[in-house]
Amino acid sequence: MKILLLSGGVGGAKMAEGLYHSEYGNELSVIGNVADDMLFHGLWVSPDIDTLTYTLADLIDTKKGWGLKDETTNTLEALERLGCDTWMYLGDKDFATHIYRTQQKQSGIRPSVIAKHIAKQLGVTANILLPTDQVIQNRIHTEQGWLDFQSYFVKKGCQPEILDIFVSGIEDAQPTPESLKAINEADLIIIAPSNPIVSINPIVNVPGIRAALKSSKAPVVAVSPMINGKTVKGPADRMMAAMNFSSDVLGVANCYQGLIDGFVIDIEDQQFTSVLEASGLKVMVAQTLMKNRIDKVSLAENVVAEMSTKF
Ligand code: GDP
Ligand code: CA
Repeated sequence: MKILLLSGGVGGAKMAEGLYHSEYGNELSVIGNVADDMLFHGLWVSPDIDTLTYTLADLIDTKKGWGLKDETTNTLEALERLGCDTWMYLGDKDFATHIYRTQQKQSGIRPSVIAKHIAKQLGVTANILLPTDQVIQNRIHTEQGWLDFQSYFVKKGCQPEILDIFVSGIEDAQPTPESLKAINEADLIIIAPSNPIVSINPIVNVPGIRAALKSSKAPVVAVSPMINGKTVKGPADRMMAAMNFSSDVLGVANCYQGLIDGFVIDIEDQQFTSVLEASGLKVMVAQTLMKNRIDKVSLAENVVAEMSTKF
């Protein structure tokens, strides 16, 4: 069975890891998010794609959920000595990925091809796909002005109040042929429990992707990143509120209206089942908090097994 996952960084990578190590792992494709990409020290950093790749390669720092394990920070410290702004943590080994990506990009290689090569070299057999090869970037309008995602998230620690969010460059972006093919060929499409606003919207709003998802034979099923009206981690609740969605499963369902056929909600939210079903969704209730690999694999297998019988 061909499974396609749409994923952001840390939350999405948990689902990707579960699927990858499940019985459905041999035909897994993952479309990642590139809207958090940014230049640091002249290098092109793609945090969500790297989180996905490092996670599936078992190279991730499991305590943080991102970055490589057993890292050192000599390069960052040396950059600091030169007077560089070093609020963005980049480990020494991680720098190699960014150097390679930047050098390949400068020699005209498509970002999708670069991402595929990095995954292959790290031993990942799942297809890591990009929604677009163009540059698209999350822009957060806050009370302190416009910020890119990393400045809001890392430098400002998610403190400034959010007024609006948009993805620059997305109207002119083109979908990659690889992502359209994966959407078309999938048997089941899963939207990971990722930030709907800054991780999933920048994938599905690339022109052509939403239409491809609609016309695919595969049902599209989302796993809620909200449990009991709260995010597990990160600013998704505030971002949902800033975009006029309630920060709970109903808000997530509203945000994905017209996009999803099925919705996986946590046991803590099971009281919302009937209202969600009344809106036409096939609803599955599950333990969606993933703390370890057993949780991840078991959620992945339950979602595929149950959801593939509902359509
Ligand atoms: P980011 O790019 O690193 O911000 O990660 P994502 O966008 O992929 O995921 C962020 C979202 O994942 C947050 O809204 C969290 O609430 C959600 N999340 C993280 N861990 C879990 C989990 O174990 N279960 C569920 N249901 N959601 C999770
Ligand atoms: Ca991200």
